[in-house]
Amino acid sequence: MASKLEDLKSLLPGTSIVEPSQGGAYDKARKDTFNHDLDAFPLAIVYVRNNKDVIECVKWASSNQIPVTVAGGRHSMRCYKNDHLAIDLRHMDAVIVDAVNRTVAVQGGAKLGQVDRECSLFGMHAPFGTDPDTGVGGLTLGGGWGYLSRQYGLSIDGIVSMDVVTSKGELITTSAAVHPDLFFAMRGAGGYFGVCTLFRFRLYPVPATLSGMALYGFNEPKSLTKSYVAAMTSATRHVSGALVLGFVPDADKIRRPSATVILSYVGPSVDKGTLAIEPFKNLAGSAPLMSSVRQSTYVELQSMLGDIHSPNIGMHDKHLFLADINDEIIDTCLDMLSTLPQPTGFVAIFPFDGAIQDVPSGDTAFSHRDSNWWLIYGIEWTEISQKEPCIQWVQAGAERLKRYSQGEYTNQSHHKSAEALWGSNLDRLRKCKEIWDHGNMFGKI
Ligand SMILES: Cc1cc2nc3c(=O)[nH]c(=O)nc-3n(C[C@H](O)[C@H](O)[C@H](O)COP(=O)(O)OP(=O)(O)OC[C@H]3O[C@@H](n4cnc5c(N)ncnc54)[C@H](O)[C@@H]3O)c2cc1C
Repeated sequence: MASKLEDLKSLLPGTSIVEPSQGGAYDKARKDTFNHDLDAFPLAIVYVRNNKDVIECVKWASSNQIPVTVAGGRHSMRCYKNDHLAIDLRHMDAVIVDAVNRTVAVQGGAKLGQVDRECSLFGMHAPFGTDPDTGVGGLTLGGGWGYLSRQYGLSIDGIVSMDVVTSKGELITTSAAVHPDLFFAMRGAGGYFGVCTLFRFRLYPVPATLSGMALYGFNEPKSLTKSYVAAMTSATRHVSGALVLGFVPDADKIRRPSATVILSYVGPSVDKGTLAIEPFKNLAGSAPLMSSVRQSTYVELQSMLGDIHSPNIGMHDKHLFLADINDEIIDTCLDMLSTLPQPTGFVAIFPFDGAIQDVPSGDTAFSHRDSNWWLIYGIEWTEISQKEPCIQWVQAGAERLKRYSQGEYTNQSHHKSAEALWGSNLDRLRKCKEIWDHGNMFGKI
């Protein structure tokens, strides 16, 4: 293999490649991920700089029958895998706004924060997720939920076109009109179909933003959850956010059970926003212990949760799509929280209705558009001894919640069942796979 890697290096003069023979530098590179539970040993990591580098990598991998992973924001457990060639896109992170046509061109290795900052200069945005450190590539290719999704759909719904390096090492542009089957597959199962080196997204005006968090006590978590669900269901599409049931450190840094409402309004005016979020000010008849909800910039909204997630630890999560949040589901979630092995777990519910459901489920590989709610639960650990109990907690929760689940999110930490991820679109996806990645270079679905 060493001599084959020498061939690859000769094809990529000036491009940085890290391989196992580099010892400490290799370990540092392969562990440079959000979730340190990922402990993969890739064949080599190539820090590509342009489309030509990506093409050379794919052609080399194809001729040597070596599978490939792509590293975007490195938030998932799939960016590096044992004995795979890792194409790391971090240096391909340019973001260019076309204000006239209201689109933004984003290279495949950019992070959400970079895109939001650049777009904010023009007062226009696209729906992206809640953590600025997440990669646009992975988030989008799995679907992509953000605070704007009730209004403008998932990240994939605003894609105008994508430049993709296919498993044959060809650079093509795909859109609704060009290679529509690949365009279908990339929007929800993209990581399994090719390397997206450039996205073009539609942008939407963002006139006024309100955002913040309201922290409630945990005396009546069931009534609070029901009250939140009712308020969000009847809220206009300008309103979004999440309810997070978990543990928040108090002044003495002791984690106490809490319910946090993350709230956003993005719409025509602050006055209208203040009215729209009024029902969230007094959930279940009680005022929050504290609230930071106020007029803000859109970038402040998008970075609100940036500091909450602690990198450099292990975490395991599960993302389910649900038709509704009924009493049984709330009871199950509260019971799960009462059996946590340590107070670092959470259950969060996000609204998944509105414009997400304006797109038919068969139009994109992402298929779970009939669900009204996205439920995430997960747990972090800081010591290796905590890992097993934490994973068992997630698995036990999966068993209990599966009867309510309509499907699972491609962007959750671990993939098990393709049926759960792509549901009714799986057959079509497998046919697309035959055409675009017959040899499963980018993984089997
Ligand atoms: C703290 C945190 C917050 C999150 N918040 C949200 C949220 O608000 N909304 C939401 O929808 N999801 C959210 N997620 C889930 C997130 O979307 C996934 O973890 C996603 O896979 C991360 O993408 P990435 O590029 O950072 O990760 P990576 O690990 O780099 O990539 C993820 C997958 O996509 C592939 N990939 C990445 N870029 C490309 C590319 N350009 N071309 C081809 N394949 C590519 C990779 O090979 C890998 O299979 C969150 C996750 C975390 C950990």
